[in-house]
Amino acid sequence: MNELSLFLTHAVALEDESAERYEDLADNMEMHHNPEVAELFRKMAHYSRLHRQEAVGLAERETGGLLDLNPWEFQWQGRESPESGDIDATHYLMTPYHALSLALDAERRARDFYADVAARTTNERVRELAHGFAGEEAEHATILEQWLQRYPPPEPGWDEDPDPPTAAD
Ligand code: ZN
Repeated sequence: MNELSLFLTHAVALEDESAERYEDLADNMEMHHNPEVAELFRKMAHYSRLHRQEAVGLAERETGGLLDLNPWEFQWQGRESPESGDIDATHYLMTPYHALSLALDAERRARDFYADVAARTTNERVRELAHGFAGEEAEHATILEQWLQRYPPPEPGWDEDPDPPTAAD
């Protein structure tokens, strides 16, 4: 990825999806009466939006602006964008452990994406920015790793609900 505008267009898409995923996870945690983890996810969504704004600003100041790419024109390493997370794993019984693990996976994929761009690009400015972004994603991953220590994996059978929410509340 040797063109700054192309790189920043990827960064914006990645942070968009990240913010969206965190809002979904926050809603899920609120629904399951876990306001602490919900608040963490709202904060992470906020960071993603700040990061997005930063990329938009850079694109406007240093390039002709963001590119208008079709979905198939994105150059992700995998099949989908690195920070999109496996939202199908969102389960109405999702525990903080599952939500935090899902978010951690996405942060690690984002970090790897930026690190890979930094390692392979021939554009000095792209390398510098990608390196910085990879560092920020690594920090996000560390925050989630710390939170995960407070929420151990649930016992087997955690998803067998003896009291479905429709009957409860
Ligand atoms: Zn992140």
